[in-house]
Amino acid sequence: MKERYDVVIIGSGFGGAINACRLAQAGRSVCVLERGKRWGRKDFPRTTGQVARAFWNERDHGLLDYRAFNKIDVIQASGVGGGSLVYFNVHLRTPPEIFENPRWPQGVRREVLDPFYDMAKEMLEAVPLTPPHEMDLPNHTQSFLSAAQGAGRKAELVDICVYTGPEKVNRQGLVQEGCVYCGNCMLGCHVHAKNTLDLNYLPLAEQNGAEVYPLHLVEKIEPLEPVEQQGYRVTFRHFDAERGGAFEAGAVIGHKVIISAGALGSTEVLLRSRDVHRTLTRLSPALGQRFSGNGDFLLAGTFESNREVDPGSGPSITAMVDYSTSRNKIFIQDLGFPDPFLWYLESALPVPNRLKNLKLFFEKYIMRTLGLSHASAFTDGADKLFQGGVTPRWLPYLGMGTDAADGQMQLSDGNIDINWNSRRSKEMFDEMEQALKELSAGIGGKYKTSLLWGWPLKKLLTAHPLGGCTMSDDSQQGVVNEYGEVWNYPNLYVSDGSIIPTALSVNPSATISALSERIAAHLIK
Ligand SMILES: Cc1cc2nc3c(=O)[nH]c(=O)nc-3n(C[C@H](O)[C@H](O)[C@H](O)COP(=O)(O)OP(=O)(O)OC[C@H]3O[C@@H](n4cnc5c(N)ncnc54)[C@H](O)[C@@H]3O)c2cc1C
Ligand code: SF4
Repeated sequence: MKERYDVVIIGSGFGGAINACRLAQAGRSVCVLERGKRWGRKDFPRTTGQVARAFWNERDHGLLDYRAFNKIDVIQASGVGGGSLVYFNVHLRTPPEIFENPRWPQGVRREVLDPFYDMAKEMLEAVPLTPPHEMDLPNHTQSFLSAAQGAGRKAELVDICVYTGPEKVNRQGLVQEGCVYCGNCMLGCHVHAKNTLDLNYLPLAEQNGAEVYPLHLVEKIEPLEPVEQQGYRVTFRHFDAERGGAFEAGAVIGHKVIISAGALGSTEVLLRSRDVHRTLTRLSPALGQRFSGNGDFLLAGTFESNREVDPGSGPSITAMVDYSTSRNKIFIQDLGFPDPFLWYLESALPVPNRLKNLKLFFEKYIMRTLGLSHASAFTDGADKLFQGGVTPRWLPYLGMGTDAADGQMQLSDGNIDINWNSRRSKEMFDEMEQALKELSAGIGGKYKTSLLWGWPLKKLLTAHPLGGCTMSDDSQQGVVNEYGEVWNYPNLYVSDGSIIPTALSVNPSATISALSERIAAHLIK
């Protein structure tokens, strides 16, 4: 690593990768610091042992980073490629009405972002699912379309960043195979069918000279006066996997620094710099505010659907239905989970039928073994061993809507904490649950709310954390301006989900990508 770069970028998810690519293409020297590992396609966790180590901590550097807070849990990713490695591939533009909320800067409107959405869509090759050769739409897609039809609604296939054709060498010279319907999108794609950032923006950045440093966790940012000439020093810890996770402290200087560590990560780096290290004391008082879970409602679903759903097969999300009301934007999508999680759920839920079938199977087996029965092959009952399970007919959903985006992030014992409650968003979640009940009736099943949402926890889980370093037209209402530049700190930028000031009501990666393309274009200009 050199001592100084034109641009130092923290994080390699949608915000980081896009800025790295565009700035390197424009001839800037670029250094990317990423806390997670670089994942080869054969490295993604599949066995139960590997899945057990799939979670982020400073020893294992896993893919998934699950955080539990008082009233909301957050799941995010870690690795070169950020959230794209584990995401459900959905690429959707935010409805234009969302940008009318006065929290958005005047200059950021859907028509302003459309050309940048186009650029991201082209790079990420987002299209509705075309089933691979000799395959049909996955069962969970068909079930969802049928649930919506039964409820008198129309569900449509959404754009997803999944390749389904024959093996190819992509535009960056990397091999991609077509989707094999393994359903493991959340654990990384073994065949590189997902168009993740490490297959497009990041290799293009590296081909243009950008340097990417995995296992580098940024701790603080400090201005070097005068910042217009000198820039900022970024201090990090480098985990040395070969030395059993030992770490070394280091620093690098960027004439410009772009923080793209995600809604929680970017807010944490800035809060630490302001409140612990006291290096960025002029940051806006709005830092940490306007946290939103994007109205995510996860882990709810229809049980005992009238058809086989197989939520472990096919790309995890494929379709969507609009359940918006006069008061709230609400969108519901089908959802799938990797098989290891479904098996875990099967074993955790007591299913009396399965126990009864297990007993019958073993009775038959013992009778055959002792020669007391000469009935047909004992494996006749094997199919019943798997009967009575809950997951084959479980249709999980992802609901998203306009929550109040009124959470507050702060440091507790030096780590990020979220103070949020659902009170001001209750009407929207009530409407969303009503929609989920209608879909459940539409497929002849029973609606079960999320385990977390029920008494006594009354919590939510979000995969789409937003806010904390929000955009605004003045330095009191937000942390950055409409181009991501931090108020009072020239040449310091934030470009990721943390700058979004409201819930989007749809999956956010396309909007984060469009905003990042716009920020990069502004920086180059
Ligand atoms: C299971 C799952 C499914 C999802 N599905 C979808 C979907 O289908 N469609 C969609 O639009 N969105 C989806 N999302 C959300 C999407 O992944 C995020 O909105 C998106 O990745 C956010 O982009 P970002 O640039 O803000 O941050 P990220 O992509 O999260 O990137 C931030 C990066 O910064 C790194 N980092 C954090 N702190 C530091 C630090 N201190 N130093 C160095 N590096 C750091 C992280 O390791 C990470 O790689 C999903 C998320 C999850 C978890
Ligand atoms: S289902 Fe997901 S993880 Fe499996 S091959 Fe298709 S895109 Fe990849």
